[in-house]
Amino acid sequence: MITEHTPAEPGDLTEVGNTDFLPEVQWAEPIPTRWVEPGVLYVVATPIGNLADMTARAIAVLQGVDVIACEDTRHARKLLDHFAIRNRVVALHEHNEAARTTEVAGWLSAGQAVALISDAGTPAISDPGSLLVRRLAELGHPVSPIPGTCAAIAALSASGLDSTHFWFEGFLPAKAQGRAARLQQLAPLPATLIFYEAPHRIRAMLQAVCAELGGTRQAVVGREMTKRFESFVRGNLAQVCAALDDGSIPERGEFVVLIAGADAAASPAAEGIAVARLMDVLIAEQAPARMIARLLTQLTSLKRNEAYAAVQARLDEGRPDE
Ligand code: SAM
Repeated sequence: MITEHTPAEPGDLTEVGNTDFLPEVQWAEPIPTRWVEPGVLYVVATPIGNLADMTARAIAVLQGVDVIACEDTRHARKLLDHFAIRNRVVALHEHNEAARTTEVAGWLSAGQAVALISDAGTPAISDPGSLLVRRLAELGHPVSPIPGTCAAIAALSASGLDSTHFWFEGFLPAKAQGRAARLQQLAPLPATLIFYEAPHRIRAMLQAVCAELGGTRQAVVGREMTKRFESFVRGNLAQVCAALDDGSIPERGEFVVLIAGADAAASPAAEGIAVARLMDVLIAEQAPARMIARLLTQLTSLKRNEAYAAVQARLDEGRPDE
């Protein structure tokens, strides 16, 4: 089932320059900057397509900081100009994040306030920023989030799928083999799976999902959310794939794909595989046993003591004979 819906104020960020789509409210005057403190890094979420989703606090903080680190300065300018934000901007992208981190640490130590934004949505969520945040936090600099839009959470909230447990995957590997391997790892998880996908890969991605997970799971594809051509397709995976094939879902724009998790209760064997895979991945990442057990309790039907026993048994299995 496809539901298309144009938001009442489709302030489409991708159509800046076309003032028909700008929200009527304009922020010409600076908002008082009492929310900005010296020496703090603010991680500021920005809209994913609709300028009217910018929060008042995001505007105030961006107007009040000394420097704004952004993925692409030209892209950021469109947003910043709209809200009369004229502060200094510097580029921070995946290729210069490490070097920029040292500079930002220096500015914070000197008492300047710095904001981090990405091209859209929440920084560090499938976007640059986590390295900067991690290193600055390690150095003892305060880091404060200014929350707002995130495509994954927006899509989940409108999906109707189970939101008690969800797994945010972001982008799958682009190559077919890696994508299939990753999907096999995700298949047994009893949690709603959330993916980001680019328009030129959406068809191949959904075909791979159908091949690895079967056609019967419920799925929701959110396209162009908050923009003029917002649409949601809901059905089982086979129906969603068919909607792409018959052109009902255009292969243009931005996509979030959500897929119902494995039905753990109906398939204890599947859950057993999921538990084992999850433990192996986390043990390989050297996650502490307590954390692994806690995740197992949250993501599977195992009870706390069962999860601890399973982790201990797995760790013992992996130890070399003494
Ligand atoms: N940091 C962002 C966030 O908080 O959502 C995500 C950045 S990631 C590089 C961009 C991906 O997010 C797109 O390829 C698409 O999968 C998803 N996305 C962003 N905006 C969207 C929108 N308006 N509708 C649907 N998906 C969107």
